[in-house]
Amino acid sequence: MKVETIMQQLAAKHPGEAEYLQAVEEVLNSIEEVYNQHPEFEKAKIIERMVEPDRIFTFRVTWVDDKGEVQTNLGYRVQFNSAIGPYKGGLRFHKAVTPSMLKFLGFEQTFKNALTTLPMGGGKGGSDFDPVGKSDAEIMRFCQAFMLELWRCIGPDQDIPAGDVGVGGREIGFLNGMYQKLSRQYHTGVLTGKGMTWGGSILRPEATGFGALYFTHHVLETAGKDIKGKTVALSGFGNVAWGAAIKAKELGAKVVAISGPDGVCAIPDGITDEMIDYMLVMRASNRNKVQDMADKFPGKAIFTAGKKAWSVKCDIALPCAFQNELSEEDARELVANGTWCCCEVSNMGCQPGAIHFFQSQPGFLFAPGKAVNAGGVATSGLEMTQNAEHISWDAKEVDERLHAIMRSIHEQCVKFGTQADGTIDYVKGANIAGFMKVATAMMEQGLI
Ligand code: GLU
Repeated sequence: MKVETIMQQLAAKHPGEAEYLQAVEEVLNSIEEVYNQHPEFEKAKIIERMVEPDRIFTFRVTWVDDKGEVQTNLGYRVQFNSAIGPYKGGLRFHKAVTPSMLKFLGFEQTFKNALTTLPMGGGKGGSDFDPVGKSDAEIMRFCQAFMLELWRCIGPDQDIPAGDVGVGGREIGFLNGMYQKLSRQYHTGVLTGKGMTWGGSILRPEATGFGALYFTHHVLETAGKDIKGKTVALSGFGNVAWGAAIKAKELGAKVVAISGPDGVCAIPDGITDEMIDYMLVMRASNRNKVQDMADKFPGKAIFTAGKKAWSVKCDIALPCAFQNELSEEDARELVANGTWCCCEVSNMGCQPGAIHFFQSQPGFLFAPGKAVNAGGVATSGLEMTQNAEHISWDAKEVDERLHAIMRSIHEQCVKFGTQADGTIDYVKGANIAGFMKVATAMMEQGLI
């Protein structure tokens, strides 16, 4: 396999699909060497098969807004790879959603899910519906119209969607209600991220952020460092940033920044519990403005319009918002301000130039999203297990299992990512570990 040749062919076949091509190239660069040691992979054309989704559903979603006007959006479900289990991955509602974005996310999800140790394949879906400024009633009508098409594509042993950007507990509730109505199936397992009274798992809302901090803790510990007393800058203020802020504070770190599309809030004394609770109010308001935090806590949270979280001095940077949110320029600014660790919590949060720059800095600790944020989907897997057994575990049990999974993912990264000089390349480690598992499963199941 030559990465350049495969990428040229792929770019010709899928012109303009920038995020998808970026995600594939990153994985191929990491696995090239290992892949070429396995002639049987080449013979079975594993790469050519693995980079294409099994299938993509595209559908029209028509709904009526509060003014009585008819609105039409596009809906998608990308079923990427089912070699190790049913398709599993979130739904993203965001105005910029395209097939390219969902293909990149489905591709990433396949490897991420393989790392969790649980039997889950990779999928992703969503819509170009923009939740910003929408009322609860509009959100409900959209979710119902979306499920009117999606329900035929999914099932507890086929494809199990969950939340992602723009889709949280509220949306999963509306989606699940409509699924049950249409299918007359009252099992609890077709979506994850459900409410606590109807099959949800305790700690699922917190899981992505908690898992990310457990992973960060292991990265630091392996490098002989402690997170206690360190300053952390987070981007975003949604579900992932919220969970990360709770756990960072619990582990003794100081969260000194959160951000939004409108700018950054610096929090010099560190985020408080009241501020963390207020993040949930901000998310539910659909305003998408981090300035609301500064208005609510004047003098404690200081808003600067148009700036990113990466402009605030910190030890550890945790991108928690969107793909490509941290550029090479941001990486240089962070390092110049003394940052020595970046754990990507968002999917593909760092641009390739940023990753290369971080990795070129001696001693800098960088870990990629598919390892760092896997605690979210892992806890979805734990939700599926509880649903299948018709039981609910308590918080201690779920937290211990989540922590054990994050420890295992870290171990896999160390196993496959330790370099000749003793340093750990977490990007390589995560990609090779995930790839080997999916490739082996595909090989053993023949040409399908
Ligand atoms: N959207 C999350 C992710 O990117 C969670 C998916 C899930 O729980 O299925 O991994």
